[in-house]
Formats: sequence, structure tokens, C-alpha cells
Amino acid sequence: MLKIYNTLSRRKEEFVPYDKDNVKMYACGITVSGDAHIGHLYQAMIYDIIRKVLVQNGYKVTYARNYTDIDDKIIATANRLHVDSAEYARQMIKKIDEEMRYFQVDEPDIWLKATENIDNIIEFVKKLIDKGYAYVTKKGDVYYSVEKFAKYGQLSNRNLDDAKNNYRIENDEEKLNPLDFALWKSAKEGEPFWNSPWGKGRPGWHIECSTMNMTAFGEQIDIHGGGRDLIFPHHENEIAQTEAVTGKQFAKYWIHNGLIKVNGQKMSKSLGNTIVLEELRKKYHPEVVKFALLQNSYRSDINLTDEIFDLAEKHINGFYSIIQKGEERFGLPEKEVEGELSHLVKEALQDDFNTPKALSYLFDRFKEISKKLQADDRSARDDIKEIISAYKILGLFVNQPKQVLDFINNKDTIPEEVKALAEKRWQAKQNKDYASADAIRKEIEEKGFAVNDHKDGYDIVKN
Ligand SMILES: [Zn+2]
Repeated sequence: MLKIYNTLSRRKEEFVPYDKDNVKMYACGITVSGDAHIGHLYQAMIYDIIRKVLVQNGYKVTYARNYTDIDDKIIATANRLHVDSAEYARQMIKKIDEEMRYFQVDEPDIWLKATENIDNIIEFVKKLIDKGYAYVTKKGDVYYSVEKFAKYGQLSNRNLDDAKNNYRIENDEEKLNPLDFALWKSAKEGEPFWNSPWGKGRPGWHIECSTMNMTAFGEQIDIHGGGRDLIFPHHENEIAQTEAVTGKQFAKYWIHNGLIKVNGQKMSKSLGNTIVLEELRKKYHPEVVKFALLQNSYRSDINLTDEIFDLAEKHINGFYSIIQKGEERFGLPEKEVEGELSHLVKEALQDDFNTPKALSYLFDRFKEISKKLQADDRSARDDIKEIISAYKILGLFVNQPKQVLDFINNKDTIPEEVKALAEKRWQAKQNKDYASADAIRKEIEEKGFAVNDHKDGYDIVKN
């Protein structure tokens, strides 16, 4: 039996989907206003794992994620860079998709983009106006009237007065209530816009998710996920919008992951402590990052420090060394191996996706295997294969030992100038400037290194 902590009821509940074994799951994706960071990776990774746990437990899952590709911040960044905001969003999405693949996070079944759903969004807003939940201002903005929705505040567990006092809001004197939120924003000078019955404008953020959910799944979904910072107002507003239109409960289970802090502080541009994926991938192997992040319950905040990554790297290095030894000594079985450990891991994950518990078994297991290898005990090969089979679901032990060990043990010995050259060559290749890419490759080889390209990037190795 699968148990999930539901933010809506504020307790752990048995998971029972609306429609037998079919699960509809939606997780809020990235607003592509800049480089993806570890918080984005963490969220994508968590919902990928949740999807896989559901599948392991016999459910047929359809998992959708969105990209918010139209937004104030995207427009601001694009303007600053003097590029078209749609083109900027497209390029960022391409880059982020590639980074997620590098970190071995699987794609959802359905990708949704706000800009591809503008007509549906306009239809949704019309319905809200017709039903009396929304109003149009003189400027051509459309607002949702929170006082019309009796259950407003149920997810975040607050009443309207609390919310009003504790939440900073952009003020607009045309709003009836300061908590009313924009469904449609009239276009300002120099902004991209679409035509609508209310004039030129673009959708608000919250309506995008309600509409894309409806487009992908219809009126009801089983699981809606996102970071805890989205509970209010984003998810509260999604509920208000969708349930006002359908008159039915929207998502049955609301799942929220904790947030990432760096050295005790929130990641922010102003503090300059944001760990972007572009940098992270140069320092740590994807499995090291996963192992570090999954040591925490997905619901609690993670405080990242260098020590956490270094310790994770030490463990992954140790585990993979043992796998490599076993593989060299005995070879590993081709088929999957299931045993007591597989059940323990499955059980831990059935209990609200308890990854720290699932990982806790590894230390003793590897110790035992290590002893068996010393004693030349051939059963070590089944034990290793059982680990590989059981932890695949978390994206661990899915790589060749040599690849992981080489990454960990060579990364510090590659000089910065070689790394910079390799990066320059990669960029040249991306720009289809193959002549420069070849010239830089020769330069790298003269320094005693080689670059090996693969599907999602490259590795640098000593020659
Ligand atoms: Zn959303």
C-alpha cells in the first residue's frame, strides 16, 4: 500500500486514485527566466522518482510538466539581452532539457508550454467571467475575485484576512480585493502580447497551470506537485480557478517538496549563492548529486554545503569501487536480482517516498559485499546485482563503474585551462563552427588531454 502526505489534509493518506489504477500527475515546471539551478533539478528529480514509485506499485501513470515561457521576468531578461522573449525562452528550454538529461532525470509523458495554450487560456478566463468569478478592469486586465470562491485558503490553511495581512501584493487600485490576482494582463509598451476579447495582453501565471492541466487531463487529476513555495498563492489560485469552472475537486493529492538552502541561506540572485546546473555538472557526477539530495526526506528543506557533496562523493566512490571489484572478479548476472533488500527499498518508498530510509541500507550491504569479496565468496555478484536492480528507481548505480570512478578521480587533475578550452570547443560545436572546434581539440590534445563527446555533452580524459 502506498502512502502519500497530502498538503490538503495535512496528513499521510493511503493513495487511491480517482480512476482505478490510472494516475494523472502534474508538476509545476520551470519559469525559464534564467539558468536552471539545483532547486529546479531537485524538483524535477523528485517527481520523476514519484512517478517511478507509482509505476513500481502497479499504476499506469501519465505525468505532465510545464514550462512557463511567458512571464514578467522572462520579458525583463530578454529585453536586457536585446533578444526576442519567445526566442530566449526557446533557447533556455533547449539548454535546460539538455541539462536535465545530463543529470539523468527522465522526461515527463506530456510537455506543456504556456505559449502553446493561449487560446485555451482565453477560453478558461471567459468561463470564469461568465460564472461571475472574474472581472475586467478599464485597463483591460482581468482579475479573479477571491471573495467569490468560498473555499479560498483551504490548501494553505489561511483565511482571507490572514492572507491579506501576511502576503505582499502588487497594488492596483482597480482591484476589488488586494488578494485578487490577474488572469489576464493588459500589454505594456514593448511587451509581447496576444489579442483577446479584453484587448492586447498576456496570461497571468496561475491561469496557465489550471488551463494546461485541463488541456492534458480534463477536470480532475490525482496528484499535483510543486515546491513548497508554490502552495500560496500559486496552487491556492489554481484550485480557485479550476474548481470555480468545474464545480468538482481538482487534485486529490497535493504534494510539495522542500526547498534548497545553501549554507543556511535561501538561494537568490542578490546573494550570488545560486548553484546553477552548468557549474554543478563540472564539479560533481550526477549520481553524487542525487545521493546527496536524496539523503533528505523530499518534504524537508535541504541545507547544502560543500561537505554534503564531498561526503556523498566519498560514499559513491566507495560503493562503485566495490561494484567494480565484484564485476572484475566474478562478472555480474545479466538478469535482475530481487531479494530482501529489494523489498526493504520498495517498502521505504511506499511510505511517502522515504528516500533516506531507502538509502540507509546501502552502507551495511556494501560492507558485507566487501567482506565477501575478500573471502572470494561468489555470492557477492548476486548481492551487487540486487543493489543495482533495487536502486535503479532512484537513478543510482545506473552508470558504468569506470565512468563514475574516472569522473570522480580525474576531475581535480584536469587543469582549469583545459576545462575552459573544452567548454569553448563545445560551444563552437553547438554553433556549428566545426573548424574552430577542431582547432581547439588539437590544442587540448597538445596539452595531454582528450575530449570524448557523447549524447548529452562531453568528458575530458587524460591522454
Ligand atoms: Zn503551476
